[in-house]
Amino acid sequence: MTTTTAPDRLSDPSGRGWVDGYRIIFPQRQHAYTEEEIAAVVDVMRNAEGQTQGDYLEAFQDDFAAFIGGGHAFAVSNCTNALKLAGIFSRIGPGDEVIIPAYTYCATAIPFGDLGATIVWADIHPGTWTIDPADIVRKITPRTKAIVAVHLLGIPCDMKAIMAIAAEHGLKVIEDCAQSMDCTIDGQHVGTFGDFGCFSFHAAKTMTTLGEGGMFVVKDPEIARAVPGVRHNGLTSLPGPRERYWVPAMSNVDEFWTGQWPQNFCIGEPQCALGSVQLRSVRPNNEVLIEQDRKIRAALADVPEISFPEIIEGGRYVVHQYVLHFDGSAFGKNRNDLMDIVTSEYGVRCIVQYYPLYRFPLFTKLGAGEHDCPVLESWWDNSFSLPWWCGITDEEITIMTDAVRGAIEKLKAA
Ligand SMILES: *Cc1c(COP(=O)(O)O)cnc(C)c1O
Repeated sequence: MTTTTAPDRLSDPSGRGWVDGYRIIFPQRQHAYTEEEIAAVVDVMRNAEGQTQGDYLEAFQDDFAAFIGGGHAFAVSNCTNALKLAGIFSRIGPGDEVIIPAYTYCATAIPFGDLGATIVWADIHPGTWTIDPADIVRKITPRTKAIVAVHLLGIPCDMKAIMAIAAEHGLKVIEDCAQSMDCTIDGQHVGTFGDFGCFSFHAAKTMTTLGEGGMFVVKDPEIARAVPGVRHNGLTSLPGPRERYWVPAMSNVDEFWTGQWPQNFCIGEPQCALGSVQLRSVRPNNEVLIEQDRKIRAALADVPEISFPEIIEGGRYVVHQYVLHFDGSAFGKNRNDLMDIVTSEYGVRCIVQYYPLYRFPLFTKLGAGEHDCPVLESWWDNSFSLPWWCGITDEEITIMTDAVRGAIEKLKAA
């Protein structure tokens, strides 16, 4: 990176200067590790007997279950594989339809496509920007097997409505909570409403287990019993006392979930040790983000062209990404016009996240390009994301809100 002096267009209150033509960019990760977190990892490297499938795994799972206050928690290699397990335990296969919001990260849908299911894209609700329960109802057919609810951006989905629809039609509910640690509805943590909850500890998420990691949360105790075997190649011990410990062999493999092959989605002990410590910073970090969100909303409250997500009653929005919607139709301008000015003149490197999935070649080439999502079509083309992480300062908030306000003034005057 090269540090350049600020163009004379604006003074720079942050004192950070312009880097590669920007004053504020997205960081590669949410926050730096604390000394305690580093020590926890090093301790496992130095002292733990095994490096996988040990006490740290058990402890992390217990700590996580306590954090979310329910369900059976199983640490896994990443959230994509947690979603795959949800598909396996929902017995999703060829011929089944799975209803998935088209506005999400691609990993929400890939595991279900991989299991052979037909992906049916659901539209977003125009206010909450999460999956629209009314559109779920429209998309249900006799072949529908499951609904995937994604609490994207840290916004809670309308789980009350979704669970009622699922109960009426006998459908499984899978919650993608990759962006919603500490997100609750009436005090109940997301991921504990549906049959399965899937969490991510990728570096860009609220907490991370050395860059990769995930948690699979299961409601049904019968299924919970089968998870460790399906997670780890069907490994089990041979039953009963044996005359020679090596006869017939050291260990057995078995089938734990009728008719389906196991996987290896395991996570190592250093990652689990770190996870237990990282859990403690989730809530304090989210409090910072929630506070910074309040400041942005206050600063842009009198800019009618900008809108924010509506949060369902009783919902706790943990502000994992900072997405805004811009309506410049009154003066014939769109999101791209706004971003041009915000990025180049104010140095705020805002981006556009989560292309509607049915527009990606991956999905169109694999037969998942069909769609009927009119709300997303128009909404998405006018949404954009501001740089966001839990260390964002008041000065940076001011730079960003001044940039959005100033750019809109310029567009109106043009
Ligand atoms: C990050 C993310 C995933 C995938 O998580 P990994 O741990 O990287 O596999 C799935 N869904 C959403 C919404 C995500 O943001």
